[in-house]
Formats: sequence, structure tokens, C-alpha cells
Amino acid sequence: MRSMAIASRLKRGDLFFSRLRRQLAVAVYPFSSRAVDDGSTNITGPHLPVLIVGAGPVGLVLSMLLTKFGIKCAVLEKSLIFSQHPQAHFINNRSMEIFRKLDGLAEEIERLQPPVDLWRKFIYCTSLSGSILGSIDHMQPQDFEKVNSPVCVAHLSQYKLVNLLLKKLEKLGVHVKSRPGLSDELDPGSLLEKKILLGHECTSIQPTKDGVIVTAQVHNGSKLEERRFHCSILIGSDGARSTVRQLVGVKMKGERNLQELISVHFMSMDLGKFLLKNRPGMLFFVFNKEAIGVLVAHHLEQGEFVLQIPYYPPQQNYQDFSPQACEKIISKLVGWTPQDVQVLDIKPWVMHAEVAEKYLTCNNRVILVGDAAHRFPPAGGFGMNTGIQDVHNIAWKLFYFLNDFASSSILQTYESERQPIAISNTNLSMENFKAAMSIPSALGLDPTIANSVHRAINSGLGSIIPKSIQKAVLEGVFSLGMAQLSDYVLNEKNPVGAMRLEKLKRIFEEGKSLQLQFPAHDLGFCYKEGALVAGTSESTQKCDRAGSGTVSREYIPTGKPGSRLPHMHVKPLTAVSTEETFSTLDLVSGDKPEFILIIAPFKASYKIARAILTKAKERHVLLKVCIIWPQDSCQSRSTGSRTELEPWENYIDVEEVKRDCSWWDVCCSTNKGVLLVRPDEHIAWRTESDRVTDAGSEAENVLSKILGL
Ligand SMILES: Cc1cc2nc3c(=O)[nH]c(=O)nc-3n(C[C@H](O)[C@H](O)[C@H](O)COP(=O)(O)OP(=O)(O)OC[C@H]3O[C@@H](n4cnc5c(N)ncnc54)[C@H](O)[C@@H]3O)c2cc1C
Repeated sequence: MRSMAIASRLKRGDLFFSRLRRQLAVAVYPFSSRAVDDGSTNITGPHLPVLIVGAGPVGLVLSMLLTKFGIKCAVLEKSLIFSQHPQAHFINNRSMEIFRKLDGLAEEIERLQPPVDLWRKFIYCTSLSGSILGSIDHMQPQDFEKVNSPVCVAHLSQYKLVNLLLKKLEKLGVHVKSRPGLSDELDPGSLLEKKILLGHECTSIQPTKDGVIVTAQVHNGSKLEERRFHCSILIGSDGARSTVRQLVGVKMKGERNLQELISVHFMSMDLGKFLLKNRPGMLFFVFNKEAIGVLVAHHLEQGEFVLQIPYYPPQQNYQDFSPQACEKIISKLVGWTPQDVQVLDIKPWVMHAEVAEKYLTCNNRVILVGDAAHRFPPAGGFGMNTGIQDVHNIAWKLFYFLNDFASSSILQTYESERQPIAISNTNLSMENFKAAMSIPSALGLDPTIANSVHRAINSGLGSIIPKSIQKAVLEGVFSLGMAQLSDYVLNEKNPVGAMRLEKLKRIFEEGKSLQLQFPAHDLGFCYKEGALVAGTSESTQKCDRAGSGTVSREYIPTGKPGSRLPHMHVKPLTAVSTEETFSTLDLVSGDKPEFILIIAPFKASYKIARAILTKAKERHVLLKVCIIWPQDSCQSRSTGSRTELEPWENYIDVEEVKRDCSWWDVCCSTNKGVLLVRPDEHIAWRTESDRVTDAGSEAENVLSKILGL
């Protein structure tokens, strides 16, 4: 009876959703203090549907998605303050599409980021004021025309993004608790929902029959306390050195310790002004005989930078990189001494290319996302972006699982869909890393030599050679390499230098240096198996060649199951002007986990729509039908699909907006096409309505397959 009542409300659409959400959350998850009997432990504590460990960008985006979907969750963060180290800065197209749906986050990023002309280039030079070896513009006119996406890529420091996310979360009623350990907060009965608990370090995990008990050490000034939580699902979004991953014994697979680096976060308005005037760019690869480094201009107008310097421990010590030493390196890279350098933070980090062997464990109760599940070289900017897309994938699945509308196998599809994408992005990031390394190699400064010598010393030789000699050997290798960058060698008149400069020119002209944009991977990634019905009919196979997303670097839209819904402009059928246009991606709600069935106005397609609407109602699946009419369907404006779909109300009639090809061509389908789109905007099922003989059983099969029932 209760489920029928809920279902009848579902069809009434948006107005009812928030009320329904509250009812579901209260009914399904009584959020009270209760005893947990797991056989071995008896704890009394609040029971949370989802506990997220780690308040980095990935954990915060997940908490925002779940909060919007009405799933109660809390976040544990070990630090007492949010990291202010900029790290990620490039936000790719797909992440920006996700952010568009997070209460205007994309627009705020666009407002806060520096103007694109200040970051569209990568510059290769002998110093920031010296000769330019190459300058590559990574933006093309089509990037601004928004042909493939309603939004562009962006450039904003990770900590600024985190600050924006925190503001959005606050508006959703999620609060940061920054003073842990106070007695009232340690009361097990206190409500944890919608809290980000700082100073809570997850230290142990114990699976129970219906969830996980998590122990956190609470850092409260000089005192250390323990606090335990019981949750149905634990999400490990605790970064590259994930404790959660280690506690559940999941191994990483891939290449480790590719390169160690020191990251120096500093401010200098002098340098910002100089680069603004002379050579604005995002990345500056600087090679000279005194210093080598990659400078990331996070915001030229604000004079905010991060310098990445190769680092070879234990022969080099972290302590060698004092603020004064870093300032000296900065001067050598700049070519003069900016007077106002203010070093804010110095951090060592290690580059890996690894993916977790498992994304889910403990009977699907512990799930890894973001850097906890994969860690790539930052070349290409895929790390955070992949993590954001991970949580976009899992959020709607958690909604259906936790509300008992889908089986736990829907959670497994998170791994079968996202792990191959992480492996593909790892390979691409490795390729990019090698492309980045091709420049110093062409200059005669082969970084692999220094790395090999370093590895050899550390593996065996280190035990027989004294530390001081090890350091001298490494420094010898560096100075030999860096000597190749002297003006004497690196000039057109020197035959060796001329040959190297020619080689460099060829790398740039052939586009073989590090690129910024990878549309085929960014927008074109496609799930091969998972919460979808994969079959492709022969008529669409040729057109779908790009659906794998990796055939070429170019993104080719497709309606192939597993791929992201193509973007095209449409307008409400009732609209007279084109001012009301919106993207097909906007057909999918950002506020509720709703599926969309897209059809054209044909009898056979309406029949499928009615069958899917009926089955969705039975299965408690939120669903809306969208009918895409061809351009200039004026005569149908007044009635639209009413006669075909009454008494259903959850449908929308839209009209194509003029473009070179029709919507159905874009989707590699005929106008008898039917597309079922998931709440994460990926296509779950495609068919041609004139091929379906029994709409009812087809609808039943499709929904059962997607929900794992
Ligand atoms: C130099 C550099 C440049 C980069 N540039 C880009 C880029 O341009 N684009 C891009 O997409 N990616 C980039 N990345 C990668 C990006 O920074 C990471 O992928 C991103 O930070 C991952 O986010 P996350 O939320 O998964 O993990 P994190 O940001 O690492 O957050 C994890 C959080 O978990 C907390 N935590 C850890 N252990 C525990 C515990 N036991 N209990 C509780 N809390 C815990 C940590 O304190 C932290 O706050 C770059 C990385 C580097 C190093």
C-alpha cells in the first residue's frame, strides 16, 4: 500500500519530489540512536545510510549529490582545516557539465576563473624572461562555440573549488563542524546527518551484517578520543594514500613511484604582472642550466603560482627545500629576482599510475572513489575530473539501492563501468606524461637517465656507496644534463643545438607535446557493460565507431548505450521564439535521480513510452518522457503529445533547434529511435520502436536489467 502511494506521487513530478524524499528518508532510514548487534560488537550509535571518509573535492561532490537526492550522509575529514594547496586546476568539459547541475556551480567557476586568454597556452622557455622554445595554444574556435557541450573547460584552483562546494553544501543545510570532541558532539545520539566533521581520522573499519562500523580518532587539541559510527555504506574518498583502501586490503595495480616532486605554492604580483604583459599562459616548462621546473600559473592577475620541481630522495632532503632555497630556484627560473615572492606551502608528492584492483568490497558495503581508487600522473588533468565522474556514477545507484528499488548488483556496476575508464585514463595520462618528457629529451636532457641512475642507487648500490658520494653522483648526472641547456649548446649555430631545436619544432608542429584537451576521453568515454542494455543493432554499428571514446582524439557524438547523451539545442514545443532554447542534457534533472525516455512523435514510440511509464511506476523508478519533435512542428504546438500520453503528466514536448543534422542522426538512429537515459546522463538503452513487438515485456526486461532485479 505504501509503495503504491509513493508511486502515484512519483508521476505527479517535481512539486511532490521534495516531500516524497523526506518521507522516504524518514521511513526507510529511521535516524535514531540504536543498538547495533553484529555478533561481536555492541555499539550504540546513530545509523547513517552513507558515511563518506575524506572531504576533498570528490567526497564533497558526492555529499552534495546525495543530499540533493535525499540520502542522509555525513563526511569525516582528518584535517582540522581544508587544504589550501591548489593542486588540481583544470576542470574538463564533463565535470563542468556535472557542475552545471549543482546549483549553478559551473557559472560560479566561470565567474571566478581567470579570463581564458590568460591560460590557453603552454609555454616552453629557457627562463620565464628568456627565449621561448615553443608556445602552444590549446583552445580552438569550436571550444567557444559550444557545439559538443553547453559549457567549456575551466581553470580554477582546487581549494577555490572546494570553497565553492562548501558554500553550496551550506545552502543545502550541510554544516562543517570544526571543533571536534566537545561532549555534546560525542553524544552518540546527536544527529550526524548533513555534517562534515573535521579532525576525524578514520582508523578502523569493521563490516557488520548490514553495514560497516567505522572508528575515527578525533583530534581535539592535545586530547585524542575515539568515536564510532555505524553506516550502511562507507565511501572511501580519502585520497591517493587512502586509509580506507588499506584497511580493507585492496591493492593497487600499475606503475608506482614514477617521479617524486616538490610542489611550491607561492604568490608574486611582480611575476604575475610580468607574465600578464609578456607571455600569459597556464603552464610554463622552464629548462636552463641552473634550474628546471614546471610553473603552473593558477591566477596571473592575483599572482598565484605553483612550481613543480623534480626531487630525488633520499640523496636530496625535503629540508633542502626551505622557503629561501625555493625562492632562489624561482629566481633562476624567472631570470630575475621578483622582490615580493611569498612562499605559502612546500609539499613533496609522488607520481603513480595505478588503479585499485577492486572498487567495492565487504559485500559491496565499502566503495572507493576518486584518488582512493586511482592515481594518475597529473599530465592531462584527469585525476580530480575522473573522481568527480566516479561519484556522479555512484550517487543515483546508491539512491535506488538504499531505497530498495534496486538490488546490490547495481552497486557492482559502478566498478564494471568506472574501473575501465580509470584504466583508460591512466594509460592516457602516462602517454601524456611521456609527451611532456619528450621536450627535455629533445633538448638533450633525458629525464629517464636521471631517474634510472636514481633508481639504481636506491635499489642496491645505495648500500655500498656513502650518502655524500651518492649525492655527488646524482648531482653530476644533473649538471651534465643541464649543461646541454647552456646558450653555448642550445643555439642555431651549434650543430648539436640546431638539431635539437629542429627536433623540438617538429614535436610542437606535429602536436606531440603535452596537450590540454582530450575530447574523446573527456566527453566520449563510454561504458561497455553495467547498468545498461548494451546491444547495438547492425544499422547503427558503423555510426557508433566513435562510441568507445578512444578511437581518435576527436569526440563524435553517439546514442550508443553507455555513452553520454549528446548535447543539442531544443526548445519547448510551445515556445515561439528560440530564446527559450536549452540543451538536451538539461532534460535530465540535477535534483533527483530521474531517468528520461526520449522518443519522436510516432505511434510505435508512444506505445513504448506508455509501457515504460507503467513499468517505471511499478518499480518506483523516477522517469520522464521527452518527445523531440522535428523543427517547425507548429501545427502540433497546442496539443503536443497529450492525446497519446494522457493521463500521464510526466512528459515534455520539445522541438529541435536548427542545426546541420537532426537529433536522430546525431544519435546514430532513425527517427523511430527510442533512448532511455540514466540520471547520470549516460544512455542505458536504445532501440527502434518499429522493431519492438511486445512493448510491455521489453520495458520489464530493460528496467530489470538496469536495476539488477
Ligand atoms: C600537482 C598536481 C596537479 C593536479 N592537477 C590536476 C588537474 O588539473 N585536474 C585534475 O582533475 N586533477 C589534477 N590533479 C589531481 C587532483 O588533485 C586529485 O585527483 C584530487 O585531489 C583527488 O580528489 P579526492 O577528493 O579524491 O582526494 P583528495 O583531494 O586527496 O582528498 C582526500 C581527503 O581525505 C582526507 N583523508 C585522508 N585520509 C583520511 C582518513 N583516514 N580519515 C579522514 N579523512 C582522510 C584528506 O585529508 C583529504 O582532505 C593534480 C594533482 C597534483 C598533485
